[in-house]
Amino acid sequence: MSETILIIGACGQIGIELTEKLRVIYGNENVIASDIREGNENMMNSGPFEIVDATNKDRILEVVKKYEVTQVYLMAAMLSATAEKFPQKGWELNMTSLLAVLDIAKDKHIKRVYWPSSMAVFGSTSPKVNTPQQTIMEPTTVYGISKVAGEHWCNYYHEKYGVDVRSIRYPGIISWKTLPGGGTTDYAVDIYFEALKKGTFECFLSEETRLPMMYMDDAIEATIKIMQADSDTIKTRTSYNLAAISFTPKEIAEEIQKYIPEFTITYKPDYRQNIADSWPQVIDDSAARKDWGWKHKYDLSSMTQDIITSLKENSNLLA
Ligand code: NAD
Repeated sequence: MSETILIIGACGQIGIELTEKLRVIYGNENVIASDIREGNENMMNSGPFEIVDATNKDRILEVVKKYEVTQVYLMAAMLSATAEKFPQKGWELNMTSLLAVLDIAKDKHIKRVYWPSSMAVFGSTSPKVNTPQQTIMEPTTVYGISKVAGEHWCNYYHEKYGVDVRSIRYPGIISWKTLPGGGTTDYAVDIYFEALKKGTFECFLSEETRLPMMYMDDAIEATIKIMQADSDTIKTRTSYNLAAISFTPKEIAEEIQKYIPEFTITYKPDYRQNIADSWPQVIDDSAARKDWGWKHKYDLSSMTQDIITSLKENSNLLA
């Protein structure tokens, strides 16, 4: 059956590449991008675009009705590092937008919802290695609190109203086409740009800080795969653990040095170190692998090769 998809928060780090891929799969005209700000040239010219404030339910509903939308991907959020600076605003954006979309689904205007959670749902009392799907979740960041609450709202709307909502707990997402939007794992994107531009990088996390990460291509693959899966394969309606690779700043620097031997890294941990220290190091995502067939493709070495080659080919991005 054909789908009409609305992406809210389409101009962000994940939204841009997700929109591109969904337009290839479902056809440009069937994928409506939206955000509170305009996107890049490709986004604006390749298909429909609407200015939508994710906290304005009436406006979302207006766009849903205008295009007869069947699925919503809600990507708008305030991320971990930024939300620590603006806790109230972070909570307001992350919760109001989710409840608006869930309500629209409950009232049967749309059939399916995608909403991303994060490894930030875990806290320092969760097991750090092979963090299970179900375990203690006592996050210490506003962002993590909003994601735990959001997961339970998703499950509640599914149980109580039959809303078909699907969710993944992303690890840190690494991309080169689009820059990250204020998260604690942003260093793992910046490091490639700085290595190629300046040959040196000052890292805001300490050298041994191991965190779960994933290349953007894998994140997009997982997102579309869970949305295309048969409903009865989705056994978890809070959110699925998702993992690919885990590494430290020192390990990614060593990988980059294979391509740029003179590259150097220094460490100056800031407030983001505390956030990183409260998160898992390695996540157990066996439930996602078993239930809907998740499989990652990129490891640290193939990701680094792809990013460095791509950035060299697109050197305008390094300007
Ligand atoms: P981002 O910050 O790069 O993009 C968010 C987008 O939302 C931006 O384009 C912004 O303009 C838009 N936005 C902000 N307020 C809005 C509003 N009121 N109405 C409409 N749009 C608004 O974020 P991202 O990295 O693309 O993350 C997308 C989702 O994935 C978020 O839910 C985030 O929590 C989750 N996530 C991301 C990562 C990561 O590493 N990037 C990791 C875990 C989870």
